[in-house]
Amino acid sequence: MSAEIAPLESRITDELRLIPRWSIACALVMFVAVQYYFWVFLPALRHSSSHIPALLHLYLTTSVGALLALYFLMVGYITRDAPRRGMNVRVWMICVVIPGGIGAVLYFLLRQPLLETCPSCGASIESEYHFCPQCAYQVSGCCGRCFASTRMTDLYCTRCGHDLASDHPPERLHAFLHE
Ligand SMILES: [Zn+2]
Ligand SMILES: [Zn+2]
Repeated sequence: MSAEIAPLESRITDELRLIPRWSIACALVMFVAVQYYFWVFLPALRHSSSHIPALLHLYLTTSVGALLALYFLMVGYITRDAPRRGMNVRVWMICVVIPGGIGAVLYFLLRQPLLETCPSCGASIESEYHFCPQCAYQVSGCCGRCFASTRMTDLYCTRCGHDLASDHPPERLHAFLHE
């Protein structure tokens, strides 16, 4: 619920914090390894200087290194992101590790909404639900006329213009309004 009103920056920071340390370490190691391979190992093997201009060489090695590093960060992120969406980590890891990156694209296209816990009964519920399907507890604000999602700070429904104060929302939703 708090994610709905949190500013974009803090949401991005929260998402980045999900990335585990091991995947950051892997990403750094991969980046350095790519630089070593192209700048030290390969020239030594060829015994001759490369015909590619130095600037283009720098651009290519940095790009390849950054792509590989990003891939490891993404794998780390998915291992943390999948469980909180009730998705099977092992199945998705197999898809994502398949070369080509198609699995990773599929993951972000097909991933399920975040799961939250109902404060009343503890059931796992999707974060976009307005009411808990197990106990009818209202977990987020919605318009009393058209049932569109509303933010805590809205006075009128953004879809139908309904006066939200006339809905007499539960006390806990009122409390957010007057914070
Ligand atoms: Zn519930
Ligand atoms: Zn409405």
